[in-house]
Amino acid sequence: MPKPIVLSGIQPTGNLHVGNYLGALQNIVKLQNLGDYQMYYFIADWHSLTGEMTAAERRRQIMITAAELVALGLEPEQLTLFVQSHLPEHTELGWVLSTVTPMALLQRMTQFKDKAEQQTKNINAGLFNYPVLQAADILLYHATLVPVGEDQAQHLEFTNDIVRAFNRRYGDYFAPIKPLFTKTARVMSLLAPEKKMSKSLGADHVLELADEPKAIERKLKRAVTATAGGGKSPGAANLLELLQAFAPAKIYQEFAEAERQGNIRYSELKQALAAAVSDYFSAFRKRRAELLASPRELPEILAQGAERARSVAAKTIAEIRRLVGVR
Ligand code: AMP
Repeated sequence: MPKPIVLSGIQPTGNLHVGNYLGALQNIVKLQNLGDYQMYYFIADWHSLTGEMTAAERRRQIMITAAELVALGLEPEQLTLFVQSHLPEHTELGWVLSTVTPMALLQRMTQFKDKAEQQTKNINAGLFNYPVLQAADILLYHATLVPVGEDQAQHLEFTNDIVRAFNRRYGDYFAPIKPLFTKTARVMSLLAPEKKMSKSLGADHVLELADEPKAIERKLKRAVTATAGGGKSPGAANLLELLQAFAPAKIYQEFAEAERQGNIRYSELKQALAAAVSDYFSAFRKRRAELLASPRELPEILAQGAERARSVAAKTIAEIRRLVGVR
């Protein structure tokens, strides 16, 4: 039996933060290490054109993201790691799929509405068409499992609607996809713990994986633990969850117990968490720096990933061309 094909990706939008790690990447590393799946992971640079980055920033972010993924433990030998734009097949399939996609389907996508509210001065057609390219990313490799949080279920339904539309028109070709739901954390901002941790809130709202120990300590010192009406503090709950994720179990249990007893000292919690996070990502920081300093290592990894991806993508595109009658 061939292993089920799993695909996921991330935009090259800058240094990863602990929310990205606990909400997505830790799970990818786990799935990779299980060895039960054939895995593809890509840096979604074509998708990032819908955002606000300059060309120079984008070029830099792609390499930083690649370095961080490898430093986190994505193994190019075990998982096909590649940059989306290295394969023109993504945009080619995206075009074909857009011609079987009803406008009404796209108009229902909530992510477009959210993004349009976030970047009111740049509501481009790419933002609107984004789900079509996302469907192409998945279907190009005949992936059948996509790791997602509950909030992305709509995108998978959309992809399956496209699968049905394509198959109706050109014959049974694509198989439907399924979400691979996994338990992942939702990490909150350090300074506004009622909001999801995100760099768009500001640099001091997030703990970046590459942050040096001094920066981690400084940001955690400022983290909000006060409560509005004397009830449970959402900021403290968030810090405790981070402690559970990154500190030895014994240390977490001590603080969790103090919280239950009502005698927790937040300054000590912050110090313990700063030490734990610094320690947890210390090998990561070293490896990331090495990769970024090497002129050859990352380009070689990404070229090898693109080659492996291409061997599948090119076959899909040749079949698609025949099916739609352009060859
Ligand atoms: P983004 O760059 O926001 O699209 O995030 C990339 C990945 O990280 C997605 O799978 C998100 O669901 C996940 N992610 C981003 N921020 C958080 C957060 N604060 N908590 C948990 N997961 C997150």
